[in-house]
Amino acid sequence: MGTSATKTDNALLIKQLGDSMLAFEKEFPLSSFQAGGFKQHPSVTLLTCSDSRMPVEIFGSSFNYIFAVENIGNQFRTAEGSVLYGLHHLHTPLMIIAGHTDCGAIKAAESNFLEEPLGIRNELSVVKDSLEKIIHQSGVTVTDNPDLRYTQLSELNVDMQIDLLLANEHVFNLVGDNKLLVIGVMVDLHNIYEEGYGRVYTVNINGETDTDILKSFTGLGMFGEQAKRLTHY
Ligand SMILES: [Zn+2]
Repeated sequence: MGTSATKTDNALLIKQLGDSMLAFEKEFPLSSFQAGGFKQHPSVTLLTCSDSRMPVEIFGSSFNYIFAVENIGNQFRTAEGSVLYGLHHLHTPLMIIAGHTDCGAIKAAESNFLEEPLGIRNELSVVKDSLEKIIHQSGVTVTDNPDLRYTQLSELNVDMQIDLLLANEHVFNLVGDNKLLVIGVMVDLHNIYEEGYGRVYTVNINGETDTDILKSFTGLGMFGEQAKRLTHY
């Protein structure tokens, strides 16, 4: 809600929320929940940006299916415990890390954010450090064209999160034993990759960033087919 929000807007919002809750109650999947002993059995651990244009539902109906971790700039280190919980304790065979175009956290990390409240500064510092590390590590020169620049940085940021995740010995071993697949994707909300708005591209699988190799993963369906990157290194 913006500053121009009126009482009527709020009333409508409350009504919509109520309708959503009623729909959840009505459609609650009791039989499958009961069959699973009323426990959680997610198949995917997801680390994605909190951005409201990045709904968890991109990857399916989330109930008892997606263990979702969301923060600004989809940072592993901001939510390390939550991510590791999904992998160590819930044993999801798939880990998806999702970044997107026009990411406010990526833009803010490149700005002077010293006037922000401490909590925001802390999280943006982590994003900034991720970007600095991956630029140094990859040797990539990032373009100055703003649209391309922030998308390129978001893509590199996904790479960095996968590197950080794989630096965890337990996670590294899960991947080595083929018990875990780590997939990095970019959601192109703004047609920066020039194949349409709202398309989802695979940019990284288990630390591999070569799109020719990613496309050769034919057993991964769309993940292999839609491998595409702005940045190659
Ligand atoms: Zn974002």
